[in-house]
Amino acid sequence: MAYSEKVRSAYKELIDGIRNDGLFKEERYIHSEQGIEIKVEFPAGSEPRDVLNFCANNYLGLSSHPDVVKAAHEGLDTRGYGMSSVRFICGTQDIHRELEEKLTAFLETEDTVLFASCLDANAGLFEAVLSADDVMIADRLVHASVVDGMRLCPAKHDTFKHSNMEHLEKKLQEHQDARYRMIITDGVFSMDGDMAKLDVICDLADKYDAMVVVDDSHATGFIGKRGKGTHEHCGVLGRVDAITTTLGKALGGASGGCVSGRSELVEMCRQRARPYLFSNTMAPVVVAAANKVLDIITATTERRDKLEASTKYWREGLESAGFDLKAGDTPIVPVMLYNAKLAQDMARDLFDEGIYVIGFFFPVVAKGQARIRTQISAAHEKEHLDKALEAFTKIGAKYDILGKSKDDIIAKYGL
Ligand SMILES: *Cc1c(COP(=O)(O)O)cnc(C)c1O
Repeated sequence: MAYSEKVRSAYKELIDGIRNDGLFKEERYIHSEQGIEIKVEFPAGSEPRDVLNFCANNYLGLSSHPDVVKAAHEGLDTRGYGMSSVRFICGTQDIHRELEEKLTAFLETEDTVLFASCLDANAGLFEAVLSADDVMIADRLVHASVVDGMRLCPAKHDTFKHSNMEHLEKKLQEHQDARYRMIITDGVFSMDGDMAKLDVICDLADKYDAMVVVDDSHATGFIGKRGKGTHEHCGVLGRVDAITTTLGKALGGASGGCVSGRSELVEMCRQRARPYLFSNTMAPVVVAAANKVLDIITATTERRDKLEASTKYWREGLESAGFDLKAGDTPIVPVMLYNAKLAQDMARDLFDEGIYVIGFFFPVVAKGQARIRTQISAAHEKEHLDKALEAFTKIGAKYDILGKSKDDIIAKYGL
């Protein structure tokens, strides 16, 4: 049949449909290194402009940190560019093992195995350690890659209402006849910036004999007093059986992920996880830089402390300007707008003011829950925050939403 005109036009129609639904994802090009002061071409084809970045996962400001870049150069010089092999053949270097050991020490777990991404870690873990006799019980708002990993696993699937511990308990009671029960949650939820109640979850896991798996991608490096993650913040270090996390956010932001936890679970990943067995792991240059990142965040909490203070300043600034925020204490600060078009229009206007933020709406968040998600970084200086607060206040006033409640905003703009 080949790629006939009929097939082509069917796909074109699909793409047009996405565009007509207002769901088309426009690419934007950054013409500089990733950081706070960046040059962005948006929309594609327009003149790039200087903006302040408030939408990256660069929580610790390490994406372009000179020491990290230098470590990457050294890695390139001493360990070369590529592995040209999966790990179980000949694709592991000493620096890969070094990084696993550093992550184990930092996260206070028993062992760690690297993957090319956290998506791969989530794709590999569940299938490697569970069978059809077991059940996975996941928070309903877990990340898409956790959902995909669960799909690949023959164990039974169930969910509990977001952070609803009574509902989780009910599910654990219902599944007492399964061989193993595994509770699965994100540590910090990316769209709302709220945290899982890991202390309660670990208590329930003890009571009902379940394992606990946490995807801590939006927490590793900065949540908790020493930045270890949600398990540190919730006082359950050593009680989470497996953590999956990414090196693509706070930890330098290039790429890579891992499963870190009970040594047997990690060993099962080495033996059975398909992304480990059939796909190359992280490139040496990225591993060398990540080793440096672990050194930095192990030596000092300076960056996560600054991030915490800046987040507080940012949140209070937006609140006193009269914005309606989602409550929370992570560097993810969602400005609630409810109406999808309003979120998009305001994000566009803020871009024109030199502030780079993104409006999120269905299907990324629930219908009627549109928002601009702002994200703070340790690399934001007070002057950046002040400039952004000024721009937010100006644009908020333009749309007459300052000091307005959810109901006021919905009454004015609809859902
Ligand atoms: C970003 C993210 C991932 C994906 O991480 P990659 O390493 O980029 O694949 C997985 N889980 C959660 C919760 C995330 O936020």
